Amino acid sequence: MAVAGSDDRFPVRRIFCVGRNYADHVREMGGDPKSDPPVYFTKPADAIVASGSAIAYPSRTANLHHEVELVVALKSGGSDIAAGQALEQVFGYAVGNDLTRRDLQHELRDKSLPWDMSKAFDSSAQIGVICPAERFGLPAEQAIWLQVNGQERQRAQLSQMIWSVPEIIARLSAYVALQAGDLIYTGTPDGVGPLEKGDEVRAGIEGLETLEFRIAS
Ligand code: MN
Repeated sequence: MAVAGSDDRFPVRRIFCVGRNYADHVREMGGDPKSDPPVYFTKPADAIVASGSAIAYPSRTANLHHEVELVVALKSGGSDIAAGQALEQVFGYAVGNDLTRRDLQHELRDKSLPWDMSKAFDSSAQIGVICPAERFGLPAEQAIWLQVNGQERQRAQLSQMIWSVPEIIARLSAYVALQAGDLIYTGTPDGVGPLEKGDEVRAGIEGLETLEFRIAS
Protein backbone atom coordinates (compact mmCIF):
# COMPACT_ATOMS: atom_id res chain seq x y z
CA MET A 1 0.00 0.00 0.00
CA ALA A 2 1.04 3.60 -0.56
CA VAL A 3 3.14 5.45 2.05
CA ALA A 4 2.83 9.23 2.55
CA GLY A 5 5.85 11.27 1.48
CA SER A 6 7.63 8.30 -0.12
CA ASP A 7 7.69 6.07 -3.20
CA ASP A 8 8.06 3.07 -0.88
CA ARG A 9 5.19 0.61 -0.66
CA PHE A 10 3.98 -1.13 2.51
CA PRO A 11 3.54 -4.89 1.86
CA VAL A 12 0.44 -6.23 3.62
CA ARG A 13 0.98 -9.54 5.41
CA ARG A 14 -2.23 -10.11 7.42
CA ILE A 15 -5.28 -8.06 8.35
CA PHE A 16 -6.49 -8.19 11.95
CA CYS A 17 -9.56 -6.30 13.17
CA VAL A 18 -10.92 -5.37 16.58
CA GLY A 19 -14.65 -5.56 17.18
CA ARG A 20 -16.52 -3.41 19.71
CA ASN A 21 -13.92 -0.78 20.60
CA TYR A 22 -16.01 2.39 21.04
CA ALA A 23 -18.61 2.35 23.82
CA ASP A 24 -21.40 3.99 21.79
CA HIS A 25 -20.93 1.47 18.96
CA VAL A 26 -21.01 -1.47 21.42
CA ARG A 27 -24.33 -0.09 22.68
CA GLU A 28 -25.76 0.38 19.16
CA MET A 29 -24.90 -3.30 18.48
CA GLY A 30 -26.76 -4.29 21.66
CA GLY A 31 -23.75 -5.03 23.89
CA ASP A 32 -22.30 -3.83 27.17
CA PRO A 33 -19.05 -1.86 26.68
CA LYS A 34 -17.62 -2.76 30.07
CA SER A 35 -18.20 -6.50 30.03
CA ASP A 36 -15.87 -7.88 27.39
CA PRO A 37 -12.16 -8.03 26.47
CA PRO A 38 -11.32 -6.96 22.88
CA VAL A 39 -12.71 -9.21 20.15
CA TYR A 40 -10.33 -9.99 17.28
CA PHE A 41 -11.16 -11.28 13.81
CA THR A 42 -9.35 -11.34 10.47
CA LYS A 43 -9.74 -10.56 6.80
CA PRO A 44 -7.62 -12.08 4.03
CA ALA A 45 -4.72 -9.84 2.96
CA ASP A 46 -6.11 -9.62 -0.57
CA ALA A 47 -9.34 -8.05 0.73
CA ILE A 48 -7.36 -4.79 0.88
CA VAL A 49 -8.50 -1.98 -1.44
CA ALA A 50 -6.66 1.30 -1.97
CA SER A 51 -8.32 4.71 -1.69
CA GLY A 52 -10.01 5.92 -4.87
CA SER A 53 -11.47 2.53 -5.82
CA ALA A 54 -14.98 1.54 -6.87
CA ILE A 55 -16.28 -1.58 -5.11
CA ALA A 56 -18.98 -3.85 -6.51
CA TYR A 57 -21.95 -4.24 -4.14
CA PRO A 58 -21.23 -7.63 -2.53
CA SER A 59 -23.40 -10.69 -3.04
CA ARG A 60 -25.39 -12.28 -0.22
CA THR A 61 -26.31 -9.10 1.65
CA ALA A 62 -29.07 -6.53 1.62
CA ASN A 63 -27.50 -4.48 4.45
CA LEU A 64 -23.91 -3.54 3.60
CA HIS A 65 -22.42 -1.28 6.31
CA HIS A 66 -19.54 1.19 6.49
CA GLU A 67 -17.23 1.25 9.55
CA VAL A 68 -14.51 3.91 9.62
CA GLU A 69 -11.46 2.83 11.64
CA LEU A 70 -7.90 3.80 12.52
CA VAL A 71 -5.55 1.27 10.92
CA VAL A 72 -2.20 0.46 12.55
CA ALA A 73 0.57 -0.84 10.23
CA LEU A 74 3.34 -2.84 11.91
CA LYS A 75 7.04 -2.74 10.98
CA SER A 76 7.95 -5.48 13.48
CA GLY A 77 6.20 -7.66 16.00
CA GLY A 78 6.59 -10.60 18.34
CA SER A 79 4.66 -12.60 20.90
CA ASP A 80 3.53 -11.36 24.31
CA ILE A 81 4.55 -7.79 23.57
CA ALA A 82 4.25 -5.56 26.64
CA ALA A 83 1.94 -2.58 26.19
CA GLY A 84 4.90 -0.33 27.00
CA GLN A 85 6.82 -1.71 24.00
CA ALA A 86 3.87 -1.93 21.61
CA LEU A 87 4.26 1.42 19.85
CA GLU A 88 7.88 0.51 18.95
CA GLN A 89 6.39 -2.05 16.52
CA VAL A 90 4.28 0.53 14.64
CA PHE A 91 5.35 1.70 11.19
CA GLY A 92 2.43 4.05 10.62
CA TYR A 93 -1.28 4.77 10.59
CA ALA A 94 -4.00 5.05 7.96
CA VAL A 95 -7.73 5.60 7.65
CA GLY A 96 -9.56 2.33 6.99
CA ASN A 97 -13.08 1.07 6.42
CA ASP A 98 -14.23 -2.36 7.62
CA LEU A 99 -16.95 -3.19 5.09
CA THR A 100 -19.55 -5.47 6.71
CA ARG A 101 -22.50 -7.62 5.63
CA ARG A 102 -24.47 -6.56 8.73
CA ASP A 103 -27.49 -8.77 8.09
CA LEU A 104 -25.29 -11.84 7.77
CA GLN A 105 -23.16 -10.84 10.77
CA HIS A 106 -26.23 -10.65 13.02
CA GLU A 107 -27.57 -13.94 11.67
CA LEU A 108 -24.25 -15.69 12.37
CA ARG A 109 -23.84 -14.00 15.76
CA ASP A 110 -27.33 -15.04 16.84
CA LYS A 111 -26.51 -18.67 15.94
CA SER A 112 -23.09 -18.42 17.68
CA LEU A 113 -21.41 -19.19 14.33
CA PRO A 114 -18.16 -17.68 12.94
CA TRP A 115 -18.47 -14.18 11.46
CA ASP A 116 -16.12 -14.83 8.55
CA MET A 117 -18.45 -14.48 5.58
CA SER A 118 -19.89 -11.25 7.02
CA LYS A 119 -16.47 -9.62 7.40
CA ALA A 120 -13.79 -11.41 5.36
CA PHE A 121 -15.15 -11.11 1.82
CA ASP A 122 -13.56 -9.73 -1.35
CA SER A 123 -12.71 -6.00 -1.27
CA SER A 124 -13.92 -5.67 2.34
CA ALA A 125 -10.93 -3.68 3.70
CA GLN A 126 -10.54 -0.17 2.33
CA ILE A 127 -7.38 1.70 3.33
CA GLY A 128 -5.93 5.15 2.72
CA VAL A 129 -2.29 6.18 2.37
CA ILE A 130 -0.18 5.01 5.34
CA CYS A 131 1.40 7.88 7.26
CA PRO A 132 4.66 7.08 9.10
CA ALA A 133 4.19 7.17 12.89
CA GLU A 134 6.85 9.86 13.37
CA ARG A 135 4.81 12.21 11.16
CA PHE A 136 1.40 11.37 12.65
CA GLY A 137 2.37 11.34 16.33
CA LEU A 138 0.33 9.35 18.81
CA PRO A 139 -3.36 8.43 18.52
CA ALA A 140 -5.03 10.79 21.00
CA GLU A 141 -7.76 13.40 20.57
CA GLN A 142 -7.80 13.31 16.73
CA ALA A 143 -11.24 13.38 15.14
CA ILE A 144 -12.39 10.31 13.17
CA TRP A 145 -15.33 10.74 10.78
CA LEU A 146 -17.13 9.30 7.76
CA GLN A 147 -19.42 10.88 5.18
CA VAL A 148 -21.73 9.23 2.64
CA ASN A 149 -22.63 11.44 -0.34
CA GLY A 150 -21.43 14.47 1.64
CA GLN A 151 -23.54 13.71 4.72
CA GLU A 152 -21.80 12.92 7.98
CA ARG A 153 -22.61 9.47 9.42
CA GLN A 154 -19.85 8.89 11.95
CA ARG A 155 -17.78 11.24 14.14
CA ALA A 156 -15.76 10.57 17.27
CA GLN A 157 -12.28 11.03 18.71
CA LEU A 158 -9.60 8.34 18.79
CA SER A 159 -9.39 8.90 22.56
CA GLN A 160 -12.86 7.34 22.84
CA MET A 161 -11.47 3.89 22.05
CA ILE A 162 -12.13 1.42 24.89
CA TRP A 163 -8.82 -0.39 24.20
CA SER A 164 -5.85 1.85 23.23
CA VAL A 165 -3.48 1.01 20.38
CA PRO A 166 -0.78 -0.31 22.78
CA GLU A 167 -3.35 -2.49 24.58
CA ILE A 168 -4.72 -3.81 21.25
CA ILE A 169 -1.21 -4.79 20.06
CA ALA A 170 -0.22 -6.29 23.40
CA ARG A 171 -3.37 -8.40 23.78
CA LEU A 172 -3.35 -9.55 20.13
CA SER A 173 0.30 -10.62 20.48
CA ALA A 174 -0.80 -13.00 23.24
CA TYR A 175 -2.75 -14.97 20.57
CA VAL A 176 -0.45 -14.70 17.52
CA ALA A 177 3.18 -13.73 16.83
CA LEU A 178 2.75 -10.36 15.14
CA GLN A 179 5.03 -9.58 12.20
CA ALA A 180 6.09 -6.76 9.92
CA GLY A 181 3.37 -6.09 7.36
CA ASP A 182 0.48 -6.90 9.65
CA LEU A 183 -2.38 -4.38 9.71
CA ILE A 184 -4.75 -3.91 12.63
CA TYR A 185 -8.15 -2.24 12.11
CA THR A 186 -8.90 -0.86 15.57
CA GLY A 187 -12.70 -0.69 15.65
CA THR A 188 -15.38 1.78 14.65
CA PRO A 189 -17.31 4.46 16.53
CA ASP A 190 -21.12 4.59 16.49
CA GLY A 191 -23.09 5.72 13.47
CA VAL A 192 -22.49 2.67 11.27
CA GLY A 193 -25.11 2.33 8.57
CA PRO A 194 -26.05 1.03 5.14
CA LEU A 195 -24.37 1.75 1.82
CA GLU A 196 -26.25 1.59 -1.48
CA LYS A 197 -25.10 1.23 -5.06
CA GLY A 198 -23.65 4.53 -6.29
CA ASP A 199 -22.80 5.86 -2.81
CA GLU A 200 -19.64 7.97 -2.49
CA VAL A 201 -17.81 7.52 0.83
CA ARG A 202 -15.20 9.84 2.33
CA ALA A 203 -13.57 8.99 5.64
CA GLY A 204 -10.91 10.78 7.63
CA ILE A 205 -8.78 11.03 10.70
CA GLU A 206 -7.17 14.33 11.62
CA GLY A 207 -3.53 14.21 10.45
CA LEU A 208 -4.04 11.41 7.88
CA GLU A 209 -4.91 11.47 4.18
CA THR A 210 -8.63 11.11 3.51
CA LEU A 211 -9.91 7.72 2.33
CA GLU A 212 -12.35 7.74 -0.57
CA PHE A 213 -14.25 4.93 -2.25
CA ARG A 214 -17.44 4.34 -4.15
CA ILE A 215 -19.97 1.52 -4.32
CA ALA A 216 -20.38 0.85 -8.03
CA SER A 217 -23.85 1.43 -9.42
MN1 MN B 1 -14.99 -2.98 12.45
